[in-house]
Amino acid sequence: MARSQSRLTAEIDFDREGRQHGFIRLPHSVHRSAYGWIPIPVVSIKHGEGPRVLLMAGNHGDEYEGQVALGRLIRTLDPGAVRGRLIILPSANSPAAMAGTRTSPLDDGNLNRSFPGDPYGGPTAQIAHYIESVLLPQCDYVCDFHSGGSSLTYIPSALLRRGQTPEELDWGIRMLRCFGAPIGYLVDGGWGDHTLTAAAARAGVKHLGTEIAGGGQVTPSALKILESGLRRVLVEIGALAVEPPPPAVAETRIMQVRGGDYYVYASEPGLFEPLVELGDEVAAGTPAALIHPHDTPWREPAPAAFARAGMVICKRVPGRVERGDCLYHLAADFEP
Ligand SMILES: [Zn+2]
Repeated sequence: MARSQSRLTAEIDFDREGRQHGFIRLPHSVHRSAYGWIPIPVVSIKHGEGPRVLLMAGNHGDEYEGQVALGRLIRTLDPGAVRGRLIILPSANSPAAMAGTRTSPLDDGNLNRSFPGDPYGGPTAQIAHYIESVLLPQCDYVCDFHSGGSSLTYIPSALLRRGQTPEELDWGIRMLRCFGAPIGYLVDGGWGDHTLTAAAARAGVKHLGTEIAGGGQVTPSALKILESGLRRVLVEIGALAVEPPPPAVAETRIMQVRGGDYYVYASEPGLFEPLVELGDEVAAGTPAALIHPHDTPWREPAPAAFARAGMVICKRVPGRVERGDCLYHLAADFEP
């Protein structure tokens, strides 16, 4: 069955030269507003020939660094320096971004688990469908700026899907070094076929992502890494004709995140006592955390340990945990 057309419409014409801003309108008929629509802010900057790039943040609404960085890029970028076209979507899941929550308050939808989407689904599925069926087919590159959000915090990192060929692998590592975060890591399938990363692979669009700090806040040093990395990558792919800003760090450590053993989860509900910090190098069996059963504080806390060796690049922020909450994830040095 052919996939039906999106009901979303853009107020701006992506084929027109120059800088335009407006909204993508997502029809939403509710008690308050029978014929209303949800506004998703969008900017297009087109100048002559060059690569076609989609820049996204707010895929998860509580990941603020990318939303701030893309807003500043919109306000400060000289359209004359662009080569080709940038489509900028700073609050991709706009209901979630306006609520400051990971998922949409309208349908509890997690945009980055909703691809390829559904034109007749809830608001989040419709946004995913629009991105995959309308925006990605008219792009060569997509950059999607995530962070740890409310529940996690990261050593600022860039990431992309591990290339299938030596050329793709080389390109990926070159982009991670170009972005210039302290960590650049390669992932395998990861969270499956429903992510933007998977959608980009289906569309043949080159993808670069980030996990920039998080913890439910904006960290100035991490924001600087993101903003300078973004501009360097745009220059590197030929989308921006300016002098690239210097890298934020002397060298990017190239790493990988592969299977489930890179992650540590809470085995019990309770209070999370971390035993390691971001940046620590651990071995298989290194104690990771104690989970204190504060409903029955006379019981011993439940230990959690790392299943493999690596560096701690991601750590949970809130102290209260449920069974199944992610406490840490590791990265290991890249192996071809
Ligand atoms: Zn995210």
